[in-house]
Amino acid sequence: MNYRGRFAPSPTGALHFGSLIAALASCLEARAHGGEWLVRMEDVDAPRTAPGAAEGILACLEAHGFIWNGEILWQSRRLEAYQAALDDLRAKNLAYGCACSRKEIAERATARAIDGGLLYSGTCRHGTPSGRLPRAWRLRVENADIDFSDPIQGTIRQNIARDVGDFVLLRADCQFAYQLAVVVDDAFQGITHVVRGADLLDSTPRQIYLQACLDYAQPEYLHVPVATNAAGEKLSKQTGAKALDVEHPAANLVRALNFLGQHPPQELAQASVREVWEWALGNWQREKIPRCQWIRDQ
Ligand SMILES: [Zn+2]
Repeated sequence: MNYRGRFAPSPTGALHFGSLIAALASCLEARAHGGEWLVRMEDVDAPRTAPGAAEGILACLEAHGFIWNGEILWQSRRLEAYQAALDDLRAKNLAYGCACSRKEIAERATARAIDGGLLYSGTCRHGTPSGRLPRAWRLRVENADIDFSDPIQGTIRQNIARDVGDFVLLRADCQFAYQLAVVVDDAFQGITHVVRGADLLDSTPRQIYLQACLDYAQPEYLHVPVATNAAGEKLSKQTGAKALDVEHPAANLVRALNFLGQHPPQELAQASVREVWEWALGNWQREKIPRCQWIRDQ
């Protein structure tokens, strides 16, 4: 089998330590399997995309010695493909228009979804109320368990209908949802293995479900622990994560290798980026990754 992995950052800000961990783990797993490693810019959410962030992320990856295969795939240039996938789902009667306002959804919701949002009550499942036009498009989900086996996180099981509900594919602000874009692009790029942070663990069953609806192959999934700050929050732009210092790429890589349980010799932090990569490629052991979802970054 030809292994093909990927790193897919969202250009909402600069690359920080949390994203370096995901980039490094996905790249080393791909190389350890003699596979390819692709980079995809997940800029499908135009309102959240920060000007210049994508270019900054790519420059930062290069400064840290990452070498990717092929061209960068930009989600902002893939809107026709997402529309085609939505049309396919509509043709199969798996997607429906939803006319509900945010207020109506909140008023009718009786439970919370696994991501903390509100479970959609299904008002428009069998057609929008008369005189109302669809604002968003949702996937009609069945009451069925989705499970998959993750080498680090074990067996993950989710019932999409109970835990997530009929989720959004095209938002009311005309932006395609992350869940649809990522599934269409993983299939388009022939991704066989997705290695990413455990903060996306709850999204994976939805993506597996969508792959089945669209007749796509299902990649293997591996979720590495996510770095949190002292308050236990995931490192992100929103929680004030610092941009990676591109003056010290070797030290950053060594810190990320330590986080991933690889424990290289400490003097490697003073070595060149090339030497760190040589050590990492020669010594990478997936079995050493800590089997948890969150680790407080020291
Ligand atoms: Zn609705």
